[in-house]
Amino acid sequence: MRKQYLLMAVLTALLISFSACKKEVPYKTLIITGQNNHNWKASSPVLKQILDETGLFSAEIMITPEKGGDMKSFDPDFSRYRLVVLDYNGDSWSEKTNNAFVEYVRNGGGVVLYHAADNSFPSWKEYNEMAGLGGWGDRNQKDGPYVYYKDDKLVIDTTAGIGGSHGKRREFLVRTRIADHPVMRGLPVAWLHATDELYSQLRGPAKNMQILATAFADSAAGGGTMRDEPILMAITFGKGRIFHTTMGHADEGGGPSMHCAGFITTLQRGAEWAVTGNVTQKVPLDFPGSEGIVLRPDFKMSGTYTGLHDAGTKSH
Ligand code: ZN
Repeated sequence: MRKQYLLMAVLTALLISFSACKKEVPYKTLIITGQNNHNWKASSPVLKQILDETGLFSAEIMITPEKGGDMKSFDPDFSRYRLVVLDYNGDSWSEKTNNAFVEYVRNGGGVVLYHAADNSFPSWKEYNEMAGLGGWGDRNQKDGPYVYYKDDKLVIDTTAGIGGSHGKRREFLVRTRIADHPVMRGLPVAWLHATDELYSQLRGPAKNMQILATAFADSAAGGGTMRDEPILMAITFGKGRIFHTTMGHADEGGGPSMHCAGFITTLQRGAEWAVTGNVTQKVPLDFPGSEGIVLRPDFKMSGTYTGLHDAGTKSH
């Protein structure tokens, strides 16, 4: 009899925790933007659409004060979210906000760093640990080594030099490096990404970082390092997980790089991994192979932002 009660109690507890889990979906997601040397008014709505369409995320966009504005007023309650996506490359946040963000990630909060977000906050130590690698912002050897593949071997290169570069925009082949990582499971060994910047020469602390995919920066194809540069990375920080994609330089409407089915799928999978450590999404049938790009042109800029561009900014 007693055993039966115990069994009932265990089953009830399981049922309760299972329904609690179910209720977590969609995961509340915060996209932070508002300052960037990129067209964030084009990219952030596309990021939201990409995440929301999975049914796993419910994303809202938070816009920071403008460059030079009062950053003290930017004080989000990170604990309300399961995922924070950074489409941000701008002024430092307040110390209070920095501390709250570090606390959020340490306690297991998920993060996606997208494209130029890894240019941001060059002197914020914990942020650079979360990013693994970063570029520009006067980054150089003081910030950590270059990390790349050369002849299929991982290289940690402490040579002095700038952090961050890219050649001419071009289509490039993305190569899987850790096929059994949840984000990469079932994806092709190599697939062609739509025209984009191929971030190269990134440097940083590179702690607790796995390089999930690389792309060869061929100097013949418009300038490049002749190295296999990290394109997708998975980082842990405390209990938190960070998915870092260097892809997705946004033109008007986000395309072509953000319309690439490979970009979209890896972002969706990386975001789920950042929240749960696992990926339940199936690889879509239109995922590109190495023969040609696949675009999903329905990912278009929201009408609200039509024609707006950040003025006078460098592109990287
Ligand atoms: Zn860019």
